[in-house]
Amino acid sequence: VSARTLAAALALLLCAGRARAQAPAPRSVILLLADGLSWGQLQLLHDELAREKLPSALEDVLAAGHTAYCETAPLGALVVESGAGSSAVATGVKIANRSLSELPDGTRPPTILDLARRAGMATGLISTGRLTHAGPAAFLAHQKERDNEYAIARAIVETGTDVLLGGGRNRFTPSALGRAEAAGYAVLLDSRQLDADLPAEKKLLGLFADDGFPYSIDRDAGRAAPVPDLARLEALALERLSRAPKGFVLVVNSRLVDEAAHYHDAAAMLGELRATDRAARVALDFVRAHPDTLLLVTTNHDTAGYGMEYRANPARWGGDGELARIAGQKASYLSLLSEVHARERAGETLDAALIRGVVAPRLAEGVALNDADWAAVAAALSVGPKRRPFEYSPATHALAAALEPYYLASWNTGTHLSNPVPCFGLGPGSESLRGLLQNTALFGMMKAAADRAAATSSPARARP
Ligand SMILES: [Zn+2]
Repeated sequence: VSARTLAAALALLLCAGRARAQAPAPRSVILLLADGLSWGQLQLLHDELAREKLPSALEDVLAAGHTAYCETAPLGALVVESGAGSSAVATGVKIANRSLSELPDGTRPPTILDLARRAGMATGLISTGRLTHAGPAAFLAHQKERDNEYAIARAIVETGTDVLLGGGRNRFTPSALGRAEAAGYAVLLDSRQLDADLPAEKKLLGLFADDGFPYSIDRDAGRAAPVPDLARLEALALERLSRAPKGFVLVVNSRLVDEAAHYHDAAAMLGELRATDRAARVALDFVRAHPDTLLLVTTNHDTAGYGMEYRANPARWGGDGELARIAGQKASYLSLLSEVHARERAGETLDAALIRGVVAPRLAEGVALNDADWAAVAAALSVGPKRRPFEYSPATHALAAALEPYYLASWNTGTHLSNPVPCFGLGPGSESLRGLLQNTALFGMMKAAADRAAATSSPARARP
């Protein structure tokens, strides 16, 4: 082999290396973060959509893109809560539990939305939860303690994020809303305002529920005030953000998967997984039309460790019957037990008969709980004051346990697990999704878009 051939081969290798190093950075980013998502929940969605012979956008992303497992441990612990889980993705830095994108010493690493804004990109965050809830808020605010939601609301309107749509209306004081208007936001407090023409030159702050949104299955059954579907909010956000000359970063937060899993409510969780899948369809359609966009799908942690299980003696292995019973539940456990509790406050006796009267008609055909089951739910519902939604958990867990023979739904815990979680996506930079990663790795993939925007000269602006 001549020296010249060697030199030529070396030059080729160097070129290949340079080409790899200069893989194009994404122009825009869509991060779909479903709070509490696990592989077991994705399997439930997959199985039910297959039973209904419907396609799944999340499966399409998995099939077309790249996949990794992500470890979620926060700073100083093994199990994470929503704020620290989101913060790690948002900043690329491990944060302690209960803090939002702020380290114990007060250092505030910039979030991907902070960097995108500084680089001149458009930014947005939409959520089915309160915008001030730790899961979404970690992308918007820097706070030592997640429960400081009024301070978080004030911080959110100061960020200058172009599109902010979700719940949490009652965490925004009139003064916070006034500051938002002064900062150039059109403030929408009723989802019917989405039907009107929205001012194109204004930023959007839409707060469509006092707290988080109601579950999709309650909304669809007319048991809750109408709120927009996550996919609709996403389409609106994309329409506005995609006009930006230097690209955008949009965070799409499907908040209620986590909540339904905490309650062990497989049907409400399935409804939120379907809403997540509709949002994934909007994202996938956008990415196919704009291949310079990076789409990432992930979560902040696994909630509750859901899986379908088998039963022995007599052997049952799960099938369309179990799926149909889960999908046939017509209201969430929380809305049903809240209704029971409201009737108790109105003077009725809280007992098994009252609970059966409210809950049984909302369960699928063929589901018949016995007296002992109803008594167990009544006993659990009688404990505690029920001032906060999560005080319903003992009763929702009792109902889930009673329904297990019909649903084969197995739950590991009422809280979060240290399990590695799904991280997948497609588009420029998604090739790095392989093997086992830390959740902080996602930040680097998104940051490439902000670096690219920062390196691009600003569009011509009138200078004084
Ligand atoms: Zn949670």
